[in-house]
Amino acid sequence: MSEKPEKPAESPDYRATLFLPATDFPMKAGLPEAEPKWLARWAEMDLYGQIRARAKGRPLFILHDGPIYANGDIHSGTGLNHILKDFVVRSQGMLGKDAPYVPGWDCHGLPIEWKVEEKFRSQGQAKEDIPKDVLRRECRTFAAHWLNVQREQIKRLGQIGDFEHPYTTMNFKAEAAIAREAMKFVENGLLYRGFRPVMWSPVEKTALADAEVEYHEKQSPTIYVRFPITPKIQQQSASLDVDFVTDPESGKVTLGTKSTDAYIDKVAALQSAASDLVNKHTFIVIWTTTPWTIPGNRAIAFSPEISYGLYQVADATDGSLARPSEQLLLADTLAEQVAKHAKMMLSRVRTVTADELKSLVAAHPLRSLGYNFEVPVLPAGFVTADTGTGFVHNAPGHGEDDFELLVGMDRDYPIKNPDAFSLVQPDGSYAPDVPGFAGKRILTPEGKDGDANGAVIKELIAHGKLLAKGTLRHSYPHSWRSKAPVIFRATPQWFVAIDKPFLNGKSLRELALTAIGETKWYPPRGANRIGAMVESRPDWVLSRQRAWGVPLAIFVEKKSGQVLNDKDVFRRIEQAFEAEGADAWFTSPPSRFLGEGRNPDDYEQVTDILDVWFDSGSTHVFVVENPIDANWPKAERADLYLEGSDQHRGWFQSSLLESVGTSGRAPYRGVLTHGFVLDEQGRKMSKSLGNTLAPQVIAEKNGAEILRQWAASSDFTEDLRIGQDIIKANVEAYRRLRNTIRFMLANLSGFDEKERIEYSKMPELERFMLARLAELDAIVRSAYEAFDFGLVNATLFNFCTNDLSAFYFDIRKDALYCDPMDSARRRAARSVTDEIFRRIVTWYAPILCFTMEEAWTTRFGMGSSVHLQDFFPAPADWHNPTLIEKWKRVRSFRRVITGAIEIERAAKKIGSSLEALPVVYFDPSEWTALDEREAAEVSISSNLKLRPLAEAPEGAFSLPDVPNVFVIVGSAGTQDEKCARCWRVLPEVLEHPDTHLCDRCTYAVAALEPA
Ligand SMILES: [Zn+2]
Repeated sequence: MSEKPEKPAESPDYRATLFLPATDFPMKAGLPEAEPKWLARWAEMDLYGQIRARAKGRPLFILHDGPIYANGDIHSGTGLNHILKDFVVRSQGMLGKDAPYVPGWDCHGLPIEWKVEEKFRSQGQAKEDIPKDVLRRECRTFAAHWLNVQREQIKRLGQIGDFEHPYTTMNFKAEAAIAREAMKFVENGLLYRGFRPVMWSPVEKTALADAEVEYHEKQSPTIYVRFPITPKIQQQSASLDVDFVTDPESGKVTLGTKSTDAYIDKVAALQSAASDLVNKHTFIVIWTTTPWTIPGNRAIAFSPEISYGLYQVADATDGSLARPSEQLLLADTLAEQVAKHAKMMLSRVRTVTADELKSLVAAHPLRSLGYNFEVPVLPAGFVTADTGTGFVHNAPGHGEDDFELLVGMDRDYPIKNPDAFSLVQPDGSYAPDVPGFAGKRILTPEGKDGDANGAVIKELIAHGKLLAKGTLRHSYPHSWRSKAPVIFRATPQWFVAIDKPFLNGKSLRELALTAIGETKWYPPRGANRIGAMVESRPDWVLSRQRAWGVPLAIFVEKKSGQVLNDKDVFRRIEQAFEAEGADAWFTSPPSRFLGEGRNPDDYEQVTDILDVWFDSGSTHVFVVENPIDANWPKAERADLYLEGSDQHRGWFQSSLLESVGTSGRAPYRGVLTHGFVLDEQGRKMSKSLGNTLAPQVIAEKNGAEILRQWAASSDFTEDLRIGQDIIKANVEAYRRLRNTIRFMLANLSGFDEKERIEYSKMPELERFMLARLAELDAIVRSAYEAFDFGLVNATLFNFCTNDLSAFYFDIRKDALYCDPMDSARRRAARSVTDEIFRRIVTWYAPILCFTMEEAWTTRFGMGSSVHLQDFFPAPADWHNPTLIEKWKRVRSFRRVITGAIEIERAAKKIGSSLEALPVVYFDPSEWTALDEREAAEVSISSNLKLRPLAEAPEGAFSLPDVPNVFVIVGSAGTQDEKCARCWRVLPEVLEHPDTHLCDRCTYAVAALEPA
């Protein structure tokens, strides 16, 4: 017997009588060349228009696009984001919705203005010399250029949508709508001009929003500073018209009411208890990483939760700034660490209670330099004992907590203490009236450390107030754009009040938190993430001192300081912006807006522009709820926002606050987030690391389809990795899938509706496959509805690999190739393959939009498109859990047989499974009711014997997870018994010595001959 099965030499060649697979669908995809052709074809046939027309009257599903910032090539994160959006839009459409997609661009803001300024600078023109409208025009051109570049890059990835009519925040009508939204915050009373510390970039000379700030390592000086204690205990305690109450649960310190006698008694007791603290040798020690804020110090904060002690310096080594016998107040857990840094030995004198601490008043350490302030010692919830001394120096002009602490005690604090807020100028230098430090710089114009810290340290040493110094590397806020460090600086800015009740007695914060609870978050942890941010966020700084943006178009009445709230004025501004763009604000006289009867001299025109996050936070209004373009569908609100998880801080939040502030509810029903795209080692992608992988590069080299395959096969709710090895794995997965599609196309060649066989006449195997399709239908639909593309992909891929390639098609190859054309079995197999093809190709179409279109048109012609299909329904009679359960057992049973045959094949004892004669020992009641012919068919053997379990011989093959099934594989017969056409080995072949055919093939060949 030969090693390989061979057709007997003397028998005729029957290849022409087989129904061999035939298709034009190539094995090699050639995606990089094929994809642009599909894109051109879709554009030519206006596929998007056809999809929309077909969906007319269906329920709308609005995915509102988060605007891309128009200032550079798209990166891998943008690519992922837009591929996921395309999955959503296409799948929602195929689920039976009208799912439009209007892409958007964010065009205003500092990064663009910065680029344009750079361009002017390189031409030798300073920013100050360029008229605002010239600068704005350049910015507009810059944004329009990048919009076009990005649009082409995104379209290349296969995304479908109304790319001919995108929305932009710089469209005149959009500018008008954004300005009008800001006016609504005048109408609801939440807009106020406040004075408080905000993140300020001295390099860019502007306030920054949280979302414009990123954290990087920075080396900072650290200093320990002595604050003398004054004898003003009594006055200070009595002058405070309040008492502090610590909430036992939250630890939050709030103001309680002052009681009468009890309070006075308490103060008296404190006076005597704390008297040993008031002398020239006792100091409160603070620690800070920003020495330059010391001139702004106005208070010291401590925590009532921390235990404090009075320590005496017992000894100090050479070079120490500590003085033996001086006494220091320190947190007990930090005393040792302070002693180490200050090179001193400490001995603990006694405990100092919180009541004693809050009765103390310190003096500013640079009192004799002109800082003649009393420095109250105040309990605060934000003080921790992680690092430092347990005492936090408090500069209300340069820290949020600091500001809140003092203003929490006295709303008028900033008005009463202007000098605490005017220390630092916009460029980061001390103001001319700052004692001792005028003109010193915190940061240089290039963003490097200036001379301010050094000058302050020098004075502290000169005044004997420095206890120790060092350096620290820590995470510090930097401008997202200039990468230079930022500072906290109190400036007059326009704010949206977060905690002011305005709607049914509720504040923006309360309403936003309610709206978060009413929104569906994918994944659900997003609710906690944005909830925590909204819970703790400060008021929204709306104003920016820049040129490129939508102006905060309001007037302030000079006499009253009130913002002018006049609907007619608002309407005139809106109309002017609609017609001429927001430039009108800077080019028209105020009288144009103020109207008759108002003297422009009585009003201050605000020239700040709006935070760019307010622009994008308003897009829901003019794109979704009240579209400014007739091409865009109008909806009550968006169904979904889909962006990277960093947008909890950015767009999701600004849109939420904007919408809640103007309409009391969220602008979205659901929010879906994805992680960041990292390199293969899990590192962030950056130009400096050289590990970036742009989506357009992958599209050109491997095909956008591979990127889409990758997006669908990754868990996008976490950070995702991409690199050459991962791409290779996806190329391989794609190849296998393509092979399965190709098999179906090849075996459906010439399939005719007349050939279709009705359900009841199908073999059980076919009915089982249809039951699986029905099962998949439910899974795929619910997964698409939940935006779980990973589940869709895994389910379909497993089905193609395990159910189709390794099982159903493997079994049915014989019937498809060899059965006569009218065989019920072959007709059933083709009918079911047709159903599978239609479903697999449509189910995969939202993900692999190019390949499924190729498959669909290969079968149904270039006049068709898979993207004009819905998911096919699963007829009710396909559902058959009993059959699924039965065939689960059949497949386990089959695995033992094919496993046993595989061993024989590997040992080269047989050529193909058709030459094997498996003998299976089992208990039919336990495993399967198949007869020998059926069992042979599913295990792709020519013949098979079933025997009682009790007869199973020693050494028979079995699988541990399929108990009580044993298989012995013998040889099916001789070479003479092998059918020359189908290669099955059957004794009946001996009855056809001339043809060497089996009975089935005899019939099949005869049927082909002309009658
Ligand atoms: Zn045959």
